[in-house]
Amino acid sequence: MAETKRVYKFGNKTAEGKADMKNLLGGKGANLAEMNRIGVPVPPGFTITTEVCTEYNQLGVDKVIKLITSEVEDGIANIEKIMGSKFGDAANPCLVSVRSGARASMPGMMDTILNLGLNEEVVKGLVRKTGNERFVWDSYRRFVQMYGDVVMGLKPASKEDIDPFEEIIDHIKEEKKVVNDTDLDVDDLKELVTRFKKAVKSKTGKDFPTDPWDQLWGAIIAVFDSWNNDRAKFYRKLNNIPEEWGTAVNVQAMVFGNMGNTSGTGVAFTRDAGTGEDIFNGEYLINAQGEDVVAGIRTPQQITKEGSKRWAILANVKEEERKTKYPSLEESMPLIYKELNEIQQKLEDHYKDMQDLEFTMQEGKLWLLQTRNGKRTGAAMVKISMDLLQEGKIDEKTALLRNEPNKLDELLHPVFDKSAIKKAKVLAKGLPASPGAATGQIVFFADEAEEWAQKGNKVILVRIETSPEDLRGMNVAQGILTARGGMTSHAAVVARGMGKCCVSGAGSIRIDYKKKTMDVDGRTLKEGDWISLNGSTGEVYLDRIATVDPDLSGDFGKLMELADKHTRMYVRTNADTPKDAHVARGFGAKGIGLCRTEHMFFEGDRIKAMREMILAEDEPGRRKALKKLLPIQRADFEGIFEAMHDLPVTVRLLDPPLHEFVPHEDENQQEMAKEMGITKEQIKRKVDDLHEFNPMLGHRGCRLGNTYPEISETQARAIIEAAMNLKKKGIRAIPEIMIPLTGTLKEYQLQEEIIRQTAEKVFEERKDRIDYLVGTMIEVPRAALTADKIAEKAEFFSFGTNDLTQMTFGYSRDDSGKFLPVYIDKGILKHDPFQILDQEGVGQLVEMGTKRGRSVRPKLKVGICGEHGGEPSSVEFCHRVGMDYVSCSPYRVPIARLAAAQAAIKESK
Ligand code: PEP
Ligand code: MG
Repeated sequence: MAETKRVYKFGNKTAEGKADMKNLLGGKGANLAEMNRIGVPVPPGFTITTEVCTEYNQLGVDKVIKLITSEVEDGIANIEKIMGSKFGDAANPCLVSVRSGARASMPGMMDTILNLGLNEEVVKGLVRKTGNERFVWDSYRRFVQMYGDVVMGLKPASKEDIDPFEEIIDHIKEEKKVVNDTDLDVDDLKELVTRFKKAVKSKTGKDFPTDPWDQLWGAIIAVFDSWNNDRAKFYRKLNNIPEEWGTAVNVQAMVFGNMGNTSGTGVAFTRDAGTGEDIFNGEYLINAQGEDVVAGIRTPQQITKEGSKRWAILANVKEEERKTKYPSLEESMPLIYKELNEIQQKLEDHYKDMQDLEFTMQEGKLWLLQTRNGKRTGAAMVKISMDLLQEGKIDEKTALLRNEPNKLDELLHPVFDKSAIKKAKVLAKGLPASPGAATGQIVFFADEAEEWAQKGNKVILVRIETSPEDLRGMNVAQGILTARGGMTSHAAVVARGMGKCCVSGAGSIRIDYKKKTMDVDGRTLKEGDWISLNGSTGEVYLDRIATVDPDLSGDFGKLMELADKHTRMYVRTNADTPKDAHVARGFGAKGIGLCRTEHMFFEGDRIKAMREMILAEDEPGRRKALKKLLPIQRADFEGIFEAMHDLPVTVRLLDPPLHEFVPHEDENQQEMAKEMGITKEQIKRKVDDLHEFNPMLGHRGCRLGNTYPEISETQARAIIEAAMNLKKKGIRAIPEIMIPLTGTLKEYQLQEEIIRQTAEKVFEERKDRIDYLVGTMIEVPRAALTADKIAEKAEFFSFGTNDLTQMTFGYSRDDSGKFLPVYIDKGILKHDPFQILDQEGVGQLVEMGTKRGRSVRPKLKVGICGEHGGEPSSVEFCHRVGMDYVSCSPYRVPIARLAAAQAAIKESK
């Protein structure tokens, strides 16, 4: 058998890998290979596969190095051949970069090392070869800094401390009285290298390695290790990226953006990642290396002239100053710009999606270092897919699959109220890094953002610049504000990926981490003060600002129409009020899949009548109270049926344990006693009587209706009467009455009899009839197992996967918060089964219930109304088992519509 290939070479417009080998080569490696194949200039290199990362985790350093040594040596030889230089050779040295690259892009989460292969000897040789001493020493100090951090582990000691290397740089700048890194001369850079190495030795006890091969192996292993750093782990969890994938390692010949004023580096997007607009855009820096652009240390310049002008307005820079100090690439290097513009078009046409590119210019020659499908906001995602469809570049199915259902959520979020924003005070202006409207209290540290958010506070994370360590804080914040950094800074890219509002590079803000304050415009704001951000304009406002619902026409409307064209399953909503029903209908709900009647009993005087019913000693007492409830319920149903006219509405009979409604506090018990003309002690006794050890498995659902049939009778009457009242007004209601928590056929039958007898009575009284259905929730495992029996009677099934999950796992819905997070952390469970349907276990019951039900009633209508009905992977599962519809909360309706269409498309492929 042939040896497993572990290293894939590329360079000189040929490659051993290609774009569809992402699983093996990681996204970056696969695309580097592909760019070679389509003739884009890429520095030569090789990719060590993701499988080697897994082998490394199993076998350890020594064994894995042995496994790949000869292939890595061959890869280096190939680079040397193409570049005409030699790795580690002082006279004619070849330097390399070492970068991570997982299957799914994880921007900034893992490590990178540039300029590898330098030591004192090589430095001398490179100076002789290039005649550019400053460039060589600048490269060397960057290498020692990166390697010292990533491989040797010299990092800030605590969150308030600055990076130890940056601290040394700041000292030298102070000693030399200069402001910018670029103002440091060769001697300063030499001094920096000496001090860096000393710091490494004193903090780690180890000498900085001089042998380029030692450096290379150290870097490769460090990149593998970075797969398991905290931020990468957290990012994977957030984005559902499997732990076992591992990262590939890309080793590539260095090209230098810091070789002088005809060199530079930049990042670009083929379309706007924030809005989706079809405009080429990006940022670059002259005489700089890659990390400078994304790290937000220097103010980057724009690539296109148009972008540069837009930027100048936002940054308050006059046209003259813009042209001289911050010209666009289009103006400063027109030839390179032209080539880059052609390449960006070529790449977008090739990948048929918006690309995020990294490039370097070395002495007037352009090199591409990376291309990938760019991260984007929800709005940009929808617009780009609809535009590409219209441009004829992708078909309808591809356009639908390009949209991530959960990201639609961002589009449904509120925007600032126009009149409130007019009155608001603008504090500062930064770059519109990621759109949205955010209002919250200032916090300065990621962990504090988490603590505040956990207590229910809305926070805005304010940082000088963000690093990947801030990810957790960004995740819980309403928005992110940074004092430094451009549109492609880490904060901006990550925030757009998360759909989180972000304003970056608000230069007028001065942040003091120690005092936890920010100074702006002569004002000092402290931790806990309220500010608002507009991520679409870059404005930062004082105080809170009111928000309103967004407009959902345009591209969003087109996408939804397209979804309906390709879907088989339709989407209903879970709604208990006419208002929710309206919202959901606006989002395209085709009916109500679950109206929980109990929610109606909490408001105002209703709770009193409800309590009276529960506390009554006997049936006549209960009937007396139910009489008061009947008109209230009927009016509620009329409102809901009217909002959902011509569409089916599934109304579920009372479900929760009765003790949820009774007064537990002294004061309320007293009031209730007065109301009912009995003593407080009698009330108290009754409340105690209702106590249950395990209420979720106790006296609830149809068990209530079977012990107190008058409750079901009253509810059935309210439903039928409401529908008939509307019929009189010419409004068509389509009620479907649903029995909760059925476990046996007999339980169901007794309830059905009550409903049908009541309906017949009403029909007789009114001398008219309407159509209605009677069906059941399937949420007790026994109901799924005996679904063929239950379907003899039930006209529809609705899977209550909240209870079904609770009862299948035996995890209490109310108590699982105590252990589920630990279970997920330890990998015992991959997801919270109350959020993402457990297809392997609970799913079997759903599938079996559907099949068995339809075995006796082939046209049985089947849906789901547990929380899973709005979760994309669960929706796909529901499609696969042949459900007719899913039902979810109003704001998830568009998400479910898209997920249902995608399920149908995936099945047809
Ligand atoms: C369910 O159990 O899935 C369900 C929808 O009912 P509830 O959440 O009201 O118990
Ligand atoms: Mg339930």
